[in-house]
Amino acid sequence: MTAPLRLRLDSAALTSNWRHLAKLSGSAACGAAIKANGYGLGAREVARRLAGAGCRDFFVATWAEAAALTDLGLTVSVLHGLRAEDPLDAPFARPVLSTAEQVARWKPTGRVCDVMVDTGMNRLGVSVEEIGAGLLDGLAIETLLSHLVSADEDVPLNARQLADFGALRGRTQAKRMSLANSAGIALGADYHFDLTRPGIALYGGWQRTGHDAIRQVATPEAQILQRRRVRAGDTVGYNAIWTAPVDSEVAILNLGYADGYLRCFSDKGLATAEGVTLPLIGRVSMDLTAIDVTALPALREGDWVAMSYKLPETAALSGLSQYELLTGLGPRYDRIWA
Ligand SMILES: *Cc1c(COP(=O)(O)O)cnc(C)c1O
Repeated sequence: MTAPLRLRLDSAALTSNWRHLAKLSGSAACGAAIKANGYGLGAREVARRLAGAGCRDFFVATWAEAAALTDLGLTVSVLHGLRAEDPLDAPFARPVLSTAEQVARWKPTGRVCDVMVDTGMNRLGVSVEEIGAGLLDGLAIETLLSHLVSADEDVPLNARQLADFGALRGRTQAKRMSLANSAGIALGADYHFDLTRPGIALYGGWQRTGHDAIRQVATPEAQILQRRRVRAGDTVGYNAIWTAPVDSEVAILNLGYADGYLRCFSDKGLATAEGVTLPLIGRVSMDLTAIDVTALPALREGDWVAMSYKLPETAALSGLSQYELLTGLGPRYDRIWA
């Protein structure tokens, strides 16, 4: 059964984005953040395509996300570390340890892990002082990670984090070091270390000069459930926030805020069909959205329209972040890869 809502996904754009970021990463390896179901696109499908392009290091948030990828035979790191409830012997992933308690829990296994060190985010990570005091001694560390606070802005904190992280070189047994996310890659070679970890730019996010070659990957498309004529003075949708200025033709789309197309698109969002831009009218409701199709007399019930979803522009229009625009896309889309 097909859904009346689909997400068109462009494989060539995804792998082209990864190759571009890998090239920008210079001699550093380029991994991929595929947490939150591959930023909403579908982690398994994203991971398979990136692995095919040569990506070898994958990052998820939780063990459940890692377990869903088991059969793909990937190297997966779990960014949220190792709770008491998490497995010590899972063959399919390794933790990114971020507290002394987690280190104590993992060390007896003798198995390889990653470690997050905090250099200013004050979210997850052991401190530089703890490392100095020998917390990581005897641990088999593949990658020592830290995370940039404001890589998408030009602020002094970037250089300070770079210096604090760089000072750890050679001070742990970690085989590799990794600092940069998507925006961090564009900060320059100093930030690349041995491994970069892009997420949003893989999926079409643009944050900095240097991301210019990044292509859109995901486009929501919704089916028209009904076409109707509204008379001048009639209103459309909840709370009647849109009134037809003249007699108008309206199409009702199978798309709503339950699909991540949030209410901030009300009276603002844009769709396209046959190369014509169609404005969204009235309030986005849970499962339905209306657009003005007066410009396209032939568009009818059962036809599909594409929602305008270029991430930087759509973020500016809606006030949502590029990350929210993708991770909010729900389970009701058929995800169709071309
Ligand atoms: C999500 C995440 C990334 C990827 O960040 P983007 O801004 O999407 O490129 C990298 N590293 C860590 C630790 C993350 O949590």
